[in-house]
Amino acid sequence: MANIISYCMEAVADYLSPKLCVNCGTAIKLQSKSKFLCTTCFDWLKNCGNGYYNINGTHSLYPLNDVVRSLMHGLKYHGMTDIAIEMINVLPWEDTSFMGWGNKINIVPVPVNSARLRERGYNQAECIARAMQKKWGGRLFLGVLKRKKYNVSQTRLGAEERAWNAAGAFTARPPLPAEILLVDDVYTTGATTEACRYALMRAGAEKVEVLTMAYKLTDDGSSDWRKDWDYFKNKKVP
Ligand SMILES: [Zn+2]
Repeated sequence: MANIISYCMEAVADYLSPKLCVNCGTAIKLQSKSKFLCTTCFDWLKNCGNGYYNINGTHSLYPLNDVVRSLMHGLKYHGMTDIAIEMINVLPWEDTSFMGWGNKINIVPVPVNSARLRERGYNQAECIARAMQKKWGGRLFLGVLKRKKYNVSQTRLGAEERAWNAAGAFTARPPLPAEILLVDDVYTTGATTEACRYALMRAGAEKVEVLTMAYKLTDDGSSDWRKDWDYFKNKKVP
């Protein structure tokens, strides 16, 4: 009975103020399997999430197409933290064997800086890490990786400056598990995740692989993280 009443109340609320698809703005029907997407966009998400992308040794779950970009925007800037759960739950895999790992994973999310954390109230990478742990098991390690300072925006820097900026921005605190799955929202140049990997390895981790929710390619279809990484990997980080 309580279920029927709550269904009816939800139906009335939806009729009065329908939830809109974060991608195309269409009203989301009550029977929709998604809280954030209309049926068409949700079908699109399910199809593109059935692929699995491995670029330069970094693993990603979705290409950053329109639907995925809208979802990542909602997750990052509009407090829609359940988007992470929905995007992970819709994937067909029961554990991380798709990338050669099982369910004994040690998950470390990429941290956001403290000013941004205060402003938004949450770290989107941690939301994704929690959703992965809920579905795929393993342990979540929070606080082992930190941002040292408020580094300047990456987008205005050249490749070399960006590498140093990112490399100096993270520090990891032992003891760490030997094998770590580093989790972030969107893979762009890879400078951030490589800097995190660098900090974790310096603090004693033996193997660090990266898994991001989405990946973005540069205009020419390539990614320039390796250029950045080659530049600073043998240098002393300031
Ligand atoms: Zn839609």
